Amino acid sequence: MGQLKCPVCGSKSFYTKDPADPYTICEFDLSDGKILFSSEVAESDLPEVDQDTETFCNRCAWHDKLKTLGQIRI
Ligand SMILES: [Zn+2]
Repeated sequence: MGQLKCPVCGSKSFYTKDPADPYTICEFDLSDGKILFSSEVAESDLPEVDQDTETFCNRCAWHDKLKTLGQIRI
């Protein structure tokens, strides 16, 4: 399995936006092909993430669907 990271800057830090509230973001890291949500995110607030979830890099302007990063176990 290849490294899952931002194709532009190489960061493994990403976030998603709540579709119902674009000002609410949810940060996560990609580690070993899995999503590790930030500990600041309450379990009850974890968003639904699938392969088509729009994903934003935490360090640069890259964003695209999650599946463009590769195979991720959800
Ligand atoms: Zn990036």
